[in-house]
Amino acid sequence: MSRKLPTVGILGGGQLARMLTLAAAPLGIRTLVVDGTSDACAGQVAELIVADWSDDAALADFARRVDVVTFDFENVPAAAAERLAGLVDVFPNPRALAVAQDRLSEKTLFRETGLDTPEFETVDTREDLVRAVARIGAPAILKTRRLGYDGKGQFRLKTADDIDAAWAALGEAAGKHGLILEAFVPFDRELSVVAVRGRDGSFRAWPLTRNWHVDGVLSLSLAPAPGTSDELEQAATAHARAIAEKLDYVGVFALELFVRGGDLLGNEMAPRVHNSGHWTIEGAHTSQFENHIRAVLGLPLGDTGVRGASAMLNWIGDMPDPAPVLSVADGHWHDYGKEARPGRKVGHATLCAADAGSLRAKLAEVGVGLGRESQVAPAVELLG
Ligand code: AMP
Repeated sequence: MSRKLPTVGILGGGQLARMLTLAAAPLGIRTLVVDGTSDACAGQVAELIVADWSDDAALADFARRVDVVTFDFENVPAAAAERLAGLVDVFPNPRALAVAQDRLSEKTLFRETGLDTPEFETVDTREDLVRAVARIGAPAILKTRRLGYDGKGQFRLKTADDIDAAWAALGEAAGKHGLILEAFVPFDRELSVVAVRGRDGSFRAWPLTRNWHVDGVLSLSLAPAPGTSDELEQAATAHARAIAEKLDYVGVFALELFVRGGDLLGNEMAPRVHNSGHWTIEGAHTSQFENHIRAVLGLPLGDTGVRGASAMLNWIGDMPDPAPVLSVADGHWHDYGKEARPGRKVGHATLCAADAGSLRAKLAEVGVGLGRESQVAPAVELLG
């Protein structure tokens, strides 16, 4: 008698779908991925359906073949998520996805749940922008409300003289996606809470992760975030939980935070497994990918405790030589199987160690070996 293995459908076939697939396999769970391109990197490890989000027949066929649907990509059109939700269980639910897709509704939700945000104003016209800069001041960041990620769809205004340049860059997007002007926050550090909520409402968070971005793209993560007080950890985790409960969220998500003085400000929420949680694959008892699969299928959630200290380095554009990472104990290499392209996330490495001191030594060694001392420098300095 053949046994039918549960199948998780994933919309989007990038590295997140690929790592979800790799985490699902030991549990006897298969994935079926839908992506618009035939070379989507998850297709190297999972069955891939090449179809457009607007292809109703393909989505219906996909829904028939899976037990539950989830996302590797947060900008799946709400209409496609809604359509699927009429056919099969979809987690996170389309409303949560819609809130997280729009910087305005996301920030409004943060404030409703008691999490402060940078000052912001919505901008639909050039006059709105002039008014918003007059109120918020400069420096400030103009962002598209929708479809922005990794620093894309953003323009930094150093002074009010940059209004014309900002409008030239993003004015056209105002009509399509709406814009938001945010005060530039001179933060002390950036943290994220990666957390998971189950179908039964159970909730777990991994320890806070410290993140460094270069040109708006994550470059380096360190976990558990060194020098974080219990109060800050508890407050950040409580905010994540309140947001998840308000959205009736199911699955893994990340809440990105700025810390200024002792205060937390909510930057954005990613309604999916997140780059700042990649270290959990080797650094935690249960990875974000496994817990997401468990959550969407209604299985018990796994322990989010850590094995020690971890650092994650992102490879942007092209892959470096793996040897320096593979040569250190507890050094882990992830190549997403993507073509090199400027600005593209093509892989990452995670270094794990029993304590901060030995992690520092490993990071310094790998940084020198790769000729990437500047990428590891912030963590080496902090751990020193
Ligand atoms: P985002 O796509 O909004 O997450 O922005 C990417 C990165 O740009 C953030 O992780 C920060 O490093 C930086 N950034 C975004 N918004 C602000 C802000 N209001 N103030 C200061 N830095 C910001």
